[in-house]
Amino acid sequence: MDCIFCKIRDRVIAKEFTYEDEEMMVFPDIQPRKPVHLLVVPKKHVEDYLDFNDSTLSGKTKNVIDKMIKEQKLDDGRGYRVSVNGGGSQTVKHVHFHVMGPISQME
Ligand code: AMP
Ligand code: ZN
Repeated sequence: MDCIFCKIRDRVIAKEFTYEDEEMMVFPDIQPRKPVHLLVVPKKHVEDYLDFNDSTLSGKTKNVIDKMIKEQKLDDGRGYRVSVNGGGSQTVKHVHFHVMGPISQME
């Protein structure tokens, strides 16, 4: 399977992780759209968000997303966006969550 995020997970492609544990990895988006633009990626290969049905893993994913928002100090007024592309709109077919900020109310 030719999946770039699996290759990053397996260290075939070198990447410095912002955060890593047994099930999760976080690294900066290679084309950042905001000063903070992280990708929170479950290590397990799941192609689409709607196939991401393991409630234990999705709970862990939320914990890591929350941790990144707080570590990057995007809470408390600076603003953040958490987004996921799916249903064929994703360019990397390995489920991942964008954490971006700062985001203002007009955006
Ligand atoms: P999408 O699948 O539409 O959510 O977009 C995939 C995201 O992954 C894009 O924002 C890309 O810039 C990012 N991306 C693709 N390859 C890499 C990589 N090797 N390292 C970091 N980010 C990447
Ligand atoms: Zn993958």
